[in-house]
Amino acid sequence: MKYYSTNGQAPIADLQKAVVKGLAEDRGLYMPEEIYKLPKAFFGDISTMKFQDIAYNVASNFFGDDVDGDALQDIVYDTLSFDCPVVKVTDNIYALELFHGPTLAFKDVGARFMARLLRYFTQNTQSTQNNLINVLVATSGDTGSAVANGFLGVEGIHVYVLYPKGKVSPIQECQFTTLGKNITAIEVDGVFDDCQALVKSAFMDEELNQHMKLTSANSINVARFLPQTFYYFNAYARMKALGLADNLVMCVPSGNFGNICSALFGHEMGLPIKRFIAANNANDVFYNYLQTGKYEPKASIQTLANAMDVGDPSNFARILNLYSQNGALTPEATHHRITNLISGATYSDEQIKETMRQCYSETSYVLDPHGACGYRALQENLQPGEVGVFCETAHPAKFKEKVDDILGIDIEIPARLRAFMEGEKQSVELSKDFADFKAYLMRQ
Ligand SMILES: *Cc1c(COP(=O)(O)O)cnc(C)c1O
Repeated sequence: MKYYSTNGQAPIADLQKAVVKGLAEDRGLYMPEEIYKLPKAFFGDISTMKFQDIAYNVASNFFGDDVDGDALQDIVYDTLSFDCPVVKVTDNIYALELFHGPTLAFKDVGARFMARLLRYFTQNTQSTQNNLINVLVATSGDTGSAVANGFLGVEGIHVYVLYPKGKVSPIQECQFTTLGKNITAIEVDGVFDDCQALVKSAFMDEELNQHMKLTSANSINVARFLPQTFYYFNAYARMKALGLADNLVMCVPSGNFGNICSALFGHEMGLPIKRFIAANNANDVFYNYLQTGKYEPKASIQTLANAMDVGDPSNFARILNLYSQNGALTPEATHHRITNLISGATYSDEQIKETMRQCYSETSYVLDPHGACGYRALQENLQPGEVGVFCETAHPAKFKEKVDDILGIDIEIPARLRAFMEGEKQSVELSKDFADFKAYLMRQ
């Protein structure tokens, strides 16, 4: 498979280059040249297949030309060492729980898959200081912990996690600041968008790229976002087994739009989902695009659902590219296709709280603030005859202070999470100026 850039000015890349580089030379995002449909027989059998086998079929469709079959199967099986169950919340609303991985967030799958694929591509080169691969990742909370843990101890790779000082929860913070080994946490005096800008600038800086091999593990990396497609096939399979897959609406709480983008790729591969909803917090750039056809990025707003505090979602470029057929359609035609398939929702912190309380009192299901946006969007938008599945993207205990306070309960912290909290915080403090970040990296 070859990959092109959404900006159309960079050379075509193979998978290895797309994964190692992350972002194309023209700052565009890599897109696979083709999205093959999966065979009918696969969808016929899917409800009896287990998650790992469904995922291996999907993975082969994307990566089968570039990764040896046995190795790919190992990567997939090793990545998916936990389940992603579908749980009934109301008669027509189901939660797709994506939080049973090592850091209790859905980004575990993409991070673990990417670490293993990168290792696959680099295992034959001897690891010396010169060919050490440095992963730069900006996080508003959950990406950092998933990537740090996905890459922890992987030979030949060092990870720098950039996060906005004081803007991630203490539980999130300890998951990437206490690990040590090949993981360095960088505390930036700024907001998430500043962290993301630092990472993007680093990739564009020639001197820095001469000095060290850099790659990204944000959802811009194809190895991180494509594996998330597995979830949607699995959700479909589980709903089909329940006899509820005919009018499925998939609702994805979205920030950088990597997760929903992978769901849309699944749809392109033939996954029979009727329509999609992108649920947002108060960061409403995509919602506004759906209403007006104009994409107007803004500074991000801090909300209760902080892993979705994104004012200029990177993967919007992929969605546009997908539905414009790589620029072949007019912006109006593209907008029309997008609004036919995807609707939006945007919720204030007050609405998120209200939804968490209402859901808990009526169903005793504990939503986290991100999942709450998804649940509410289904409640408000499902039509008669439709069944909705929303992604519960993080375990509510990851946001314990908020969830306890909103629901008046004392939610139990899973042992896995408690273990992180016992470690000692280590971080490097930097300003949001690129010059400082560059000087720091040049000293490594
Ligand atoms: C990252 C994240 C999201 C948003 O996912 P995107 O792929 O960035 O749209 C939603 N919820 C949680 C808990 C997350 O960590």
